[in-house]
Amino acid sequence: MSRQEELKAIIETIDLTGEAPQTDPEKQYYYIAKARIYAGNLSDKLGRPLTACIRTFGCQMNARDSEKLVGILEQIGYTIIESEHADFVIYNTCTVRENANQRVYGRLGYLNNIKKSNPHMMIALCGCMMQESEVVDKIRKSYSFIDLIFGTHNIYKFAELIVTRFESKRMVIDIWKDTDKIVEDLPSERKYSFKSGVNIMFGCNNFCSYCIVPYVRGRERSREVKDIIREIEQDVSEGVIEIMLLGQNVNSYGQNITNPITFARLLQEVEKIAGLERIRFMTSHPKDLSDELIDVMSKSKKICKHLHLPLQSGSSRILKDMNRHYTKEQYLEVAHKIKKAIPDISLTTDIIVGFPGETEEDFLETLDVVREIKYDSAFTFIYSKRTGTPAAAKGNQVSEAVIKERFDRLLKEVQGISREMCARYTGNTQKVLVEGINEQDSSMMTGRLSNNFLVHFHGDPSMIGKILEVNLVECKGFYYIGELAYCINGTVH
Ligand code: SAM
Ligand code: SF4
Repeated sequence: MSRQEELKAIIETIDLTGEAPQTDPEKQYYYIAKARIYAGNLSDKLGRPLTACIRTFGCQMNARDSEKLVGILEQIGYTIIESEHADFVIYNTCTVRENANQRVYGRLGYLNNIKKSNPHMMIALCGCMMQESEVVDKIRKSYSFIDLIFGTHNIYKFAELIVTRFESKRMVIDIWKDTDKIVEDLPSERKYSFKSGVNIMFGCNNFCSYCIVPYVRGRERSREVKDIIREIEQDVSEGVIEIMLLGQNVNSYGQNITNPITFARLLQEVEKIAGLERIRFMTSHPKDLSDELIDVMSKSKKICKHLHLPLQSGSSRILKDMNRHYTKEQYLEVAHKIKKAIPDISLTTDIIVGFPGETEEDFLETLDVVREIKYDSAFTFIYSKRTGTPAAAKGNQVSEAVIKERFDRLLKEVQGISREMCARYTGNTQKVLVEGINEQDSSMMTGRLSNNFLVHFHGDPSMIGKILEVNLVECKGFYYIGELAYCINGTVH
């Protein structure tokens, strides 16, 4: 029985005539049962099943949070659909860069129009953007058709908030400034049957001077090892073969748990889980990347050959202003150490262009690291001023024109190197986890190599979720066209 089925059985037996339990997760099971009654009544009135749609903006943390929201919605009785013409629409927002906020505001008018033709429709906004008080004020004043607003710390209370909305018939707002609470054993639905993201920690203590995450996701707190292992074992028993361990800085995992351990030790524990084939993790902060971790990665049979190691800038002066706690030289040292220990590793990174005070010389230092490390791919970002962060208060902001010019140069460099790096495996045969049907050509499947590159090859949907051997026939720049390799008597043809 899957975890979702087990929970459904528990929730169906809950007696709603009594008081709600005082402790979670039981309290939340109670509210799911109660929300199910309200949703059921509405569904009877409308004469059809209720539908819900979740739009996720931003990073993998948000994607994982959305899976938890889907798990709760399904327990309540909603059918999840792709279209926003639904009875319940939830926007799980991001606020790392200004344009993320603009995208959300831009879509709210559209949602309002849909709501006019379906007055029973509910709209909820949650996630990082809602942790900013100016955003909530603006929504309260100018977007009165929104039903529910909550933040990053209380998504576990989703069912309780839905019940409050059903009972109050007014906009419900519940935002917490911070929390030290981690609620385990709540419903959750995976987007993929064969791979899953697993939070190992929440929040961030690093306060990089440009970044809003510590303000909207709170202080760092790690989950207990036993809870992480239990979740992965459950996932594996339901068919998952690849997991991605998630945290803003996984290298500082385990400092505030009952029996503190290092991230490297956690990986060793996860590796022991039978049936689990692949382990990924994200994100590693260069300042905390230990020799122990490199050693564990180099000896592991399951940890994928991919490390995302955000550089942000190649200038030691800018890195200091960014509060990153490493210099260009220290970054290069750690990156080379990894490449030496694991020669076939794929290194990827994040780079910000136009941090306040960045000069041409600083930018050239960034290009220098890009050329020396030869990243397999890089996310390049234009610096975005986030109110409340120390960098936003700096006077020496770089002009838009200069940033644009540097950004284009960086992108060209990164893409050229990426092509070169991708091509180095052409002609090889590698293990591929088949993730789905190719979006452009339905006769082809799309799979992922251990090093995170994608390969498209002729196949059929029965292959989805399996690890197969694929010949990497042609490199197309950032992905491969491949051919399934058949294994006869142990020889790959
Ligand atoms: N915790 C991760 C780390 O330290 O690398 C990343 C979290 S953040 C959501 C993802 C990336 O967004 C960062 O690595 C950074 O490059 C970028 N970013 C964060 N704040 C930014 C800002 N104000 N402007 C532009 N890019 C930003
Ligand atoms: Fe933001 Fe820095 Fe924390 Fe990453 S480590 S989330 S960039 S503050």
